[in-house]
Amino acid sequence: MAEGGLVSLVITEAGAGSDATGMKTRFEPQGDDIIVNGSKIFITSGDVADLLLVFGKWSEISDAKGAISALVVEKGTPGLSVLRTEDKLGHRASSTAALSFDNCRVPRANLLGKPGDGLAILLASLNKSRPSVAAHALGIARAAFEDAVAYINERRQSGRRIIEFQGIQFMLADLASELALCERWLWHVGALVDAGVDDMGVEASMLKQRASDLAMRISTDAVQLYGGYGYCKDYRVERLMRDAKITQIWEGTNQVHRQLIGRSFMHKIKK
Ligand SMILES: Cc1cc2nc3c(=O)[nH]c(=O)nc-3n(C[C@H](O)[C@H](O)[C@H](O)COP(=O)(O)OP(=O)(O)OC[C@H]3O[C@@H](n4cnc5c(N)ncnc54)[C@H](O)[C@@H]3O)c2cc1C
Repeated sequence: MAEGGLVSLVITEAGAGSDATGMKTRFEPQGDDIIVNGSKIFITSGDVADLLLVFGKWSEISDAKGAISALVVEKGTPGLSVLRTEDKLGHRASSTAALSFDNCRVPRANLLGKPGDGLAILLASLNKSRPSVAAHALGIARAAFEDAVAYINERRQSGRRIIEFQGIQFMLADLASELALCERWLWHVGALVDAGVDDMGVEASMLKQRASDLAMRISTDAVQLYGGYGYCKDYRVERLMRDAKITQIWEGTNQVHRQLIGRSFMHKIKK
């Protein structure tokens, strides 16, 4: 992978999105192999990835969460097929595939950890990947902000530059302040990751939901500041707005992150 391979993270199923523990993909041990059956949806680069990190349930464990296991499946494994790729609103340079596993035989050595270790692996890796979604969102937010500022410094109406209108200045002030604070929080959470802090799920959730909401807000306002030109493809702000949307949805929707943050303040009931 370090030499340039692609890996997909394969969790979501048609009936198991926000609650990934409802997944039905099945891992059945058979001698030195594992037989994989099931289907997955919305897998980024799933049609082109060299390796797939697939999450499924170990057939010999009955507990719904305790059965989740993680397995590396190689591209070209017989029984693995791409059902389709999605036609999306944004993020169009990246493919998103639906996959099917039909009696895929995978060496048992490809299992990460032990059977049932999957949920812990999943949660630990998502805490660390959420800051990267925030960085993605804040890149979109900053690009949209800078494009809009450049445009309204040039564009003139009523004999003045658009940026000279006080209503527009108040709008910029709010966006710039939110952006500065959010960017600083990204560095804070990045430092926690670098320091090896394990218990940073709430900080990561705050960052992911706030940064992605901000990317949507700033890119939408940037389209507004461009007026009718913002709605046309000649300028990139319309693409930034379309690309921003996914950051509110993947790696846990923002509703789910708000729930995680809120739940963290719930006191344990004393028995
Ligand atoms: C372009 C794209 C790329 C993706 N890439 C990957 C990938 O590489 N690998 C992968 O495994 N998955 C991937 N996904 C899947 C993505 O993570 C899921 O779409 C996401 O987790 C939401 O699941 P869902 O679409 O089933 O929505 P649902 O879970 O059905 O949610 C529908 C709505 O209900 C809300 N909701 C759900 N539960 C709650 C709750 N408890 N409280 C409040 N509201 C709730 C949600 O916030 C949402 O608004 C990708 C999706 C897209 C669109």
